[in-house]
Amino acid sequence: MPGIETVRTVSALRSRIAGWRREGHSIGLVPTMGGLHQGHLSLVRLSLKQTARTCVSLFVNPKQFGEGEDFDVYPRDEAVDAGLLAAAGAHLLYAPEVAEIYPPGSSVQVSVPGLGDILEGEFRPGFFTGVATVVTKLLLQSRPDAAFFGEKDYQQLLIIRRLARDLNIAVNITGGPIVREQDGLALSSRNAYLSPEERKIAPVLYKTLSAMATAISGGKAIKAQRDKAISTLADAGFGPLDYVTVRDAETLQPVEVINRPARILAAAKLGGTRLIDNVPL
Ligand code: AMP
Repeated sequence: MPGIETVRTVSALRSRIAGWRREGHSIGLVPTMGGLHQGHLSLVRLSLKQTARTCVSLFVNPKQFGEGEDFDVYPRDEAVDAGLLAAAGAHLLYAPEVAEIYPPGSSVQVSVPGLGDILEGEFRPGFFTGVATVVTKLLLQSRPDAAFFGEKDYQQLLIIRRLARDLNIAVNITGGPIVREQDGLALSSRNAYLSPEERKIAPVLYKTLSAMATAISGGKAIKAQRDKAISTLADAGFGPLDYVTVRDAETLQPVEVINRPARILAAAKLGGTRLIDNVPL
């Protein structure tokens, strides 16, 4: 089976992309942390459809993991990921070492106050600064026409749109829909941490958010539906529950009545694994 060309340095990435530019190709970037699944591959397919050349980055970004989080055990198997990307038809894998992205002495960070401080930002301090910093660097290193991010990490998608806008990075930030298992569980590299018992419970998160969305769309009160969802999740074995909340789909500010696009977002632990999910309203 043919492999995928892999580069590991900013200069090799830039020269490959410059070659594509000379040939007149448009370029798409799909940033990932590896542990690839159909969610990632759906973004690769979106990029292949919308741009002539697709580069996928694979970088487990230490700056977006907090103390006691799973940086050391995060799933890493570059050979498997490279095989999946080759089969999907991606054109280039960019898999830099940590020192390539953060050479000794590098200190500049990108943070997104406001949007980056709520929800995930509240429960994972520093997380979005880590994400925003690495994504800004990846965008400036590759300078793609479009970059693709999953709605699975809905707040992250909004934050990346904001940083591209505020820093005048000329890139089209495109969101892709959440890819789910048959039972509704959103695909995630971290699902590998679930025990067989927890894996059976995990789809309750999506089922609960979907039921909540249906009820609220049907005119039921947000607060009562939120209380109901919280007790359903606790009864199923989730806990602690970081948040279940209805937010404006663009600002992520709390909403009390649905008169413009909104999103239900949730984060909860199931055993040792923290799951997040969201559904539109
Ligand atoms: P990660 O490797 O977890 O950093 O994810 C890389 C990209 O894949 C991010 O833009 C995620 O939002 C996206 N992604 C992860 N899981 C899914 C999923 N189940 N459906 C769609 N996109 C996803």
